[in-house]
Amino acid sequence: MARGRAPGPQFASVEPMLADPSRPGTLGRRRLPVLGPPSEDDAGRVRPRSARISLTDRCDLACVYCRPSRSDGYLERRLDEEAWRTTVRALVQSGVRRFRVTGGEPLLHPNVVERVAFIASLGVEDLALTTNATRLARLALPLRAAGLHRLTVSLDSLVAERFWRITRGGRLATVLAGIDAALDAGYPELKTNTVVLRGDNDDELAGIVTWGWDRGILPRLIEVMRVDEGARLPPEKLFGAHEMRERLAHLLAEEPGEPDPGRGPAKYVRSRLDPRRRVGFITGTTDTYCGSCDRLRVASDGMLRPCLATNDGVAAMPLAEAGNVDGVAAAIDRAWALKPDGRTWKGCTEPTAADVSMRSIGG
Ligand code: SAM
Repeated sequence: MARGRAPGPQFASVEPMLADPSRPGTLGRRRLPVLGPPSEDDAGRVRPRSARISLTDRCDLACVYCRPSRSDGYLERRLDEEAWRTTVRALVQSGVRRFRVTGGEPLLHPNVVERVAFIASLGVEDLALTTNATRLARLALPLRAAGLHRLTVSLDSLVAERFWRITRGGRLATVLAGIDAALDAGYPELKTNTVVLRGDNDDELAGIVTWGWDRGILPRLIEVMRVDEGARLPPEKLFGAHEMRERLAHLLAEEPGEPDPGRGPAKYVRSRLDPRRRVGFITGTTDTYCGSCDRLRVASDGMLRPCLATNDGVAAMPLAEAGNVDGVAAAIDRAWALKPDGRTWKGCTEPTAADVSMRSIGG
C-alpha cells in the first residue's frame, strides 16, 4: 500500500510562505497566486502540501449522496482549541502550505472565524473553506476579514423544491443570501460545487453554469462518488463528466480541460465565447487522479487521514492535547506513509470508500 515514487529533491524549507497577489493566477475576479509543484521528502515521496481540515462532523443538512439522515450519529470528542492549534502548527511544520477548512459544516463551529484567523496568521499560501452556506450570510464578511482567501459553496440545484429534497431540508433562499453576502465581501474567488445526479439535477447544468458566470462565480460539477451514502445510491445516478460535457457543448470550448496547478483535481474548461469564464469538472468516479494527490485530511477528532477512500489513518488527539507539535508532526509522517500508491489505487472507486464517512473525515 505504501506509495512508491522516483527519488526527487530533498524537502528542505518549513518556513511559511506568504501569498503573493502580484503573481499571475487564472481564477475568479481577482488574480490569485500560482502555486508551486509538490515537494518531495528524502525517500522521494511527495510531501503533504495541502490539508483539508474538518472543524466538526456536525452538519445541518443531510444530502442524499452524503449521509442517510440528520441523526446518523456524531463523534464523541473533538479537538479543543489548543489541541487544534497544535495540530495546525504541526501541519505547517510538516510542509503543508494550503489549507481547506471543511466539515461536516464548518460554519456550525462556534470558533470558525477565530480558527480561520489562526491559520491565516501562519502566513499560508492558500486558505479556502467549503460550506453549505446556511450560515454564510452572517459569516461571509467576518471570515473574509479573518483572512480567508477563497470560498466554495455547495449548490446542487437552483430550484427550491429540488434543493430541499436533495439536501433533505435545505432552504435555497438562505443559501443564495449567503452567496450574495460572499459576493459583497469581495472574495478573490468564489466557486460552487454541484454534485450531479441523474434524474435529480442533470437538466440544470447549463442553468447553474450561466447563473454562476453572470455573478463572477466559478461553477464546478462533480461526479457522485461511491463514498458513504453515495455508494448506496442506484449506480445509474452517476452522471459522468463526458455526459456533462455533452450537455454543455453549446457553452464550452472543445478542449480537454486543464487543472489549476496545486489546486486540487478539478479540470477546467473555458467558455466558447469568453475564455475568462470556466467550468470545473471533478471526475472522482470515471477518471481518478490519485497520482497527483498531495492532500492530507484531518478529522475534527484529530485523526490524520491520507486518503478519502480508506479508513486508514493515525489518531493524533492525545499528542495534540499534550501540546506536542513534534509528536503530531511525526504522526503526520506515519499517516502519510499509509497513503495508497497513486499509480494503482483508484480512489473513490475502491470498495473501501463505501465504509468512509465523508462527513466525519472532512469531505
Ligand atoms: N458542509 C460543507 C458543504 O456542504 O460543502 C462541507 C462538507 S461536504 C462533505 C464537502 C463536499 O463534498 C460537498 O461539496 C459535497 O457536495 C461533496 N460530497 C459529499 N458526498 C459526496 C459524494 N458521495 N460524491 C461526491 N461529492 C460528495
